[in-house]
Amino acid sequence: MDRDRTPIYVEHHNGRPFSVITKGGEHYDFEYCKRDGLVYYNLSGTGGPRKTRLEAPRFCEPKKTVKGVRVWVRADMTLIDERGRTVRKHESRGYRLLKRLPGNPFERDDVCEGQTVHCTKCRDYLPDDADRPCAHLWWCDACCSWAGAADDPCKHETREASRAAYEKGQE
Ligand SMILES: [Zn+2]
Ligand SMILES: [Zn+2]
Repeated sequence: MDRDRTPIYVEHHNGRPFSVITKGGEHYDFEYCKRDGLVYYNLSGTGGPRKTRLEAPRFCEPKKTVKGVRVWVRADMTLIDERGRTVRKHESRGYRLLKRLPGNPFERDDVCEGQTVHCTKCRDYLPDDADRPCAHLWWCDACCSWAGAADDPCKHETREASRAAYEKGQE
């Protein structure tokens, strides 16, 4: 069965979808890949259907972190903050409320499904379905984690060290 991807909450950063909650309460993260010029989305959580109140999942003082935040909330939903208080002064929190949703985020031409990994050297989110998403990232089989310029790399600094540790573990 296809998931119902009717959005009830959409947060945009710089004109691109960033965070979406659907009717069924599923939450999707959207990451923009500069290199590909595409936004990749993945299912990041399920909170169950929301009745009237809605907490923005990735909403964390956008004023401090990013400019150009635009939020759309379905008219019958009330937006609450991380402490459960109703958000009234949107402007003071650094974002603008959109009256109308500018199109379904899942149906945009520049959007596709996929996980990404962040490279600290490229400063970009890259699709993680390749062994080497970029020249700085590689997968460590010993630790089952991204290594190199990943946000939280494993302890192996070279691919040789990783391979040796993996082979040792296989013995
Ligand atoms: Zn890179
Ligand atoms: Zn490792």
